[in-house]
Amino acid sequence: MKNFKGENTLNKFDLNSQPKINSKMITVNDFNFNNEKALIRVDFNVPLDADFNITDDSRIAATIPTIKKILNDGGACILMSHLGRPKEGPVEKYSLKHIVNRVSELTGAKVNFAADCIGEEATQLAANLPMGEILLLENLRFYKEEEKGDAAFAEKLSKLGTFYVNDAFGTAHRAHASTAIVAEFFGSKKCFGFVMANEIANAQKVLNNPSRPFTAIVGGAKVSDKLLIIENLMNLADNIIIGGGMAYTFAKAMGGNIGNSLCEDDRMPLALELIEKAKAKGIQLLLPEDSVVADKFANDANTAIENNMNITNGYMGLDIGPKATDVFCEVIKNSKSVLWNGPMGVFEMSSFEAGTKAVANAVAAVTSNGGFSLIGGGDSAAAIHKFELADKVSYVSTGGGALLEYFEGKELPGVKAITG
Ligand code: AMP
Repeated sequence: MKNFKGENTLNKFDLNSQPKINSKMITVNDFNFNNEKALIRVDFNVPLDADFNITDDSRIAATIPTIKKILNDGGACILMSHLGRPKEGPVEKYSLKHIVNRVSELTGAKVNFAADCIGEEATQLAANLPMGEILLLENLRFYKEEEKGDAAFAEKLSKLGTFYVNDAFGTAHRAHASTAIVAEFFGSKKCFGFVMANEIANAQKVLNNPSRPFTAIVGGAKVSDKLLIIENLMNLADNIIIGGGMAYTFAKAMGGNIGNSLCEDDRMPLALELIEKAKAKGIQLLLPEDSVVADKFANDANTAIENNMNITNGYMGLDIGPKATDVFCEVIKNSKSVLWNGPMGVFEMSSFEAGTKAVANAVAAVTSNGGFSLIGGGDSAAAIHKFELADKVSYVSTGGGALLEYFEGKELPGVKAITG
């Protein structure tokens, strides 16, 4: 199976290995599942092409060790997930039936399918499910009750299994029926799967007592999405690097001319507040000194290098410039732990990828020098894969929004439902 980059994803996961969890979390390793029917919330929200072929099966592959542990114990697995964002009930393109074969191939087990996640058919299939087999339930989001966190819907799901396992970190920040509410019906028979436990353990390495200096790199398009995380990181980090489109709101707030660069005018006062807060706390907040600017949002645009405070009218900053790149990479390489969320520029276009690529390499260098690096958020994860550095950093998180909320200091409902 190839992912979107053509990599063989099966090579990236040892489907038989049980990851080591080094924190005191209750995981599937703490139980014997003999004769248990484990109701597992997984994240099988995988991309499908027009013919319903899976184009990247990483999320399924990641969950296999959890499933295998339970099957090897002599238990059975009832898998529940969402796929896409169906608006009004069942839709063919969001049916989980398209992934039955892949789950069977990766687990080597028989996979039964329930065409409705609750109701008579699901109840019968779950009741008659032999140990050693898997039952995959249809898309949970075909019911509005899932995202509403409806207790009656959660109770119906709970009746299908005898033990609840949450292995879906990507949805842990949502109090949905299957991610949080359902856990209430299992008493102490609930725990994390390996994916979830690994995600939490790696986030905690940074949140609790990181090796110092600790540098947080925050990028991406919008300041508004990242304000809370930057604020919370001020309580943790020694250095905060800000790149990407959001840097121009800071530049304009400081009196700069940013041309056509991205800007959220209403966030300028907050940007100034963050700069003052960093000063007061003695944290080094680094903003890019220069940018690669372009006369249009396109790979073949005319480009130039300009100071961030003085961008020519009609041009927009689409990547950090060479001076900013040097300063940022120097700070990163001198760090002992790094959290990276969000690209430094429009890395999807080759003309504007250099800054993000250099930062990705600096993060990899921290790791090879014995430091810890955590990559979180969809786009920095996509960047690290694009530059083929995923194996050279300590951990690439799968949970964009969930990881962000964790670093914003919020309690994740999916985690709390297990830990209490
Ligand atoms: P986010 O989802 O907020 O992390 O933003 C990621 C997106 O921000 C990526 O698709 C980048 O192409 C985009 N991006 C990064 N820097 C810039 C920039 N200077 N101007 C416009 N878009 C940018």
